[in-house]
Amino acid sequence: MTRTVYVNGNYLPEHEATVSIFDRGFLMADGVYEVTSVLDGKLIDMEGHVIRLARSLAELDMASPISDDDLTGMFRELVRLNDIDQGMIYLQVTRGNPGDRSFVFPDPETTPSTIVAFTQNIPNLADAPAAKTGFRVISIPDLRWDRRDIKTTQLLYPSMGKMMAKKAGCDDSWFVEDGAVTEGTSNNAYIVKGNRIITRQLSHDILHGITRASVLRFASEAQMEVEERPFTIAEAQDADEAFSTAASIFVMPVVEIDGKPVGTGKPGPIAIRLREIYLDEMRKTAV
Ligand code: PLP
Repeated sequence: MTRTVYVNGNYLPEHEATVSIFDRGFLMADGVYEVTSVLDGKLIDMEGHVIRLARSLAELDMASPISDDDLTGMFRELVRLNDIDQGMIYLQVTRGNPGDRSFVFPDPETTPSTIVAFTQNIPNLADAPAAKTGFRVISIPDLRWDRRDIKTTQLLYPSMGKMMAKKAGCDDSWFVEDGAVTEGTSNNAYIVKGNRIITRQLSHDILHGITRASVLRFASEAQMEVEERPFTIAEAQDADEAFSTAASIFVMPVVEIDGKPVGTGKPGPIAIRLREIYLDEMRKTAV
């Protein structure tokens, strides 16, 4: 089926949607993005994504091309036009097309930002088979830049990390820096010890996951303890459970790290419970 996508204010068939070769998103990875999930045809955790997009843009001195309300309206329209029940919306904003290549930022008065968005139809997003078996991960050095809190489109190294995992017959890589786990290639990383959930504290070292914020809130409400601090791969391998979170995977159990089973080697009860709570609560607040 041909998707209808959004480019700079227009809804177009995907094969008619184009962006200039001079766009700074293309030439410089000078852009930010958001991935928002759709369940029952509604947007999940939308407020968090809107707030983080504004923050990413502000951190890079990039003008926002759309108001918060219009963004939500545009997402809803894409869901409607593409008849999405479960899936995702990818949104990207770049510093636009100055008409040539230069390291200097163009004047936003004369070079408006480029904004594109498209849907991804994933009928079994909530019921993903991987959530039943869990992810097997490897650890690799974190070679990304030092502002991972900004959700930029510079995803070459995370993409390489995914490929390293795939080559090793695994599902994902967890990045390690100065002996401690930062996060996964496209998700936040957690371990569980007894009733306590341990995940790295927010800083420039990791993306401030929207799913992370919701999951930690639900964990506290469910009387689980939350400890925000770095942990090592050895500690993770020795934990009762491990899991990752992201808008695209919700709560994903991690059952093996660098070839060693975590806990029983099966998805753990806390990760399973948090996934259930997250999906239940998100369905209630979806817009
Ligand atoms: N960390 C990284 C590096 C990511 O790329 C992502 C999502 O793409 C996340 C964490 C999870 O963020 P969110 O829960 O907002 O999807």
